[in-house]
Amino acid sequence: MSKAGSPGVERYVQQGREYLARRKEQRAEIRKAHFDTIAVHGMYSVAEAFAQGQGGIIEPIFPSTSQGYRDSDEMEAGLAYQIPTWCYSRIINPTNSFLEDTLSLLEAYGCPFDASAFCTSSGMAAIKQAVEPLLALPESGGHEVNFVSSAQVYGGTFQLFNVRMKERGAMVRWVAKPWENAEWERLVDERTRFLYTEMPSNPQQACSDLEALAKLAHRFQIPLIVDSTIATPALMRPLQHGADVVVHSLTKTIGSGGAAIGGAVIARHGLTSRHLAPEAREDYATWLKLWPGRDSGPCMSPFSAYFFLNEVRTLRIKVEWFSRNTMAVAGFLAGHPKVETVDYLGLKDHPLHGLASRYMRLVDSERPLFGHLLSFTVRGGAADARRFFDALQRIFRATDLGRIKSVATIPAISTHSQQGEEGRRLAGIPATMVRLCVGGEHADDIIKDLDQALNKT
Ligand SMILES: *Cc1c(COP(=O)(O)O)cnc(C)c1O
Repeated sequence: MSKAGSPGVERYVQQGREYLARRKEQRAEIRKAHFDTIAVHGMYSVAEAFAQGQGGIIEPIFPSTSQGYRDSDEMEAGLAYQIPTWCYSRIINPTNSFLEDTLSLLEAYGCPFDASAFCTSSGMAAIKQAVEPLLALPESGGHEVNFVSSAQVYGGTFQLFNVRMKERGAMVRWVAKPWENAEWERLVDERTRFLYTEMPSNPQQACSDLEALAKLAHRFQIPLIVDSTIATPALMRPLQHGADVVVHSLTKTIGSGGAAIGGAVIARHGLTSRHLAPEAREDYATWLKLWPGRDSGPCMSPFSAYFFLNEVRTLRIKVEWFSRNTMAVAGFLAGHPKVETVDYLGLKDHPLHGLASRYMRLVDSERPLFGHLLSFTVRGGAADARRFFDALQRIFRATDLGRIKSVATIPAISTHSQQGEEGRRLAGIPATMVRLCVGGEHADDIIKDLDQALNKT
């Protein structure tokens, strides 16, 4: 027999309400601080450090699989989500919660509304969790469900949308030029569940006019989802521009030290979707974590969360530093005779420089800044690109990005090999393209390595 409503359960529920009211005040307080302060502290205040136990100045790791309860009343209230609880680490974990607090505070920085986050085992898990509930097939069956996405997305996302979502009856409609609002307008209809874009995209650095896309999405009462992995909240906060959901591969820029795989879904409170139930719309990220996430188990390890927490503290300064180095490297490549084209949003002649400048600005300054990702094509054919690539000595050959160490890849034979010739043509990825992510080494040393390798083609 359920004891819900019994005096014991009620007492815990009351205590839980008081705790949540205190947390709300604490959150309102930290939201008044600057970006760096939030990145350094999140919700782990001095008072919280003592509430958590020993007063440790860094958030503790909770490797425990589960939470023990004081008695049956607390257990009942906890498992029914009637009180703040973490129950079992597949669902919630206190260390992960600290990271979720910080990431949601940073994405909602400067917004009149707040947001929540749900951290996952990888960036792909975050994207899958974010889109799946929006694609629930109508119970009556009978008609197709679709979503409209930029074709210039991460290779894994391309496969998820093109293969996995199709398998379950949700059809992707690709936008070849995601910076052209008219293309989106043409593809969206009454059966569209969401719009999805990546900005800047990996590796082509495509950009979208987020404000226009958000307006379009909201006209159809559907959400706009933005993969902001490359920009990070230090350069761009899509929620501020009308997006409903932001997804990240924390593996990349946010976790630039390169020691863990992880992802996050960050959603504004009160998102727009006429396909979700009101309780899901109210706080989508928390809803994802408590229900679909509980049932499918894409949880992050608390050890990874601890690693990401320490990375995020210095996010702004790292993004500024990598961007400065990338600008220097882009300038060098643009003038090199063995280089055919250089794509970097920071170069004034890049066709999307103006659009990127509108959205990508170093937080707490008005300075446009363009991140650490660039791509270029080597003069000649695929074999020349490979000769250059194989001659690199300091720069790592890896399908990776956002690292403190510079890394390079040839997308056609790595990240974008699965999608085939046709898919690569659609996404604009020739065999001579090299993706380079500039890290924290001195720019002159990176330039030296590139120069000697280019001269071997
Ligand atoms: C790497 C990447 C992903 C996938 O993230 P994982 O953590 O590798 O699963 C998604 N989006 C972008 C832009 C990426 O670069």
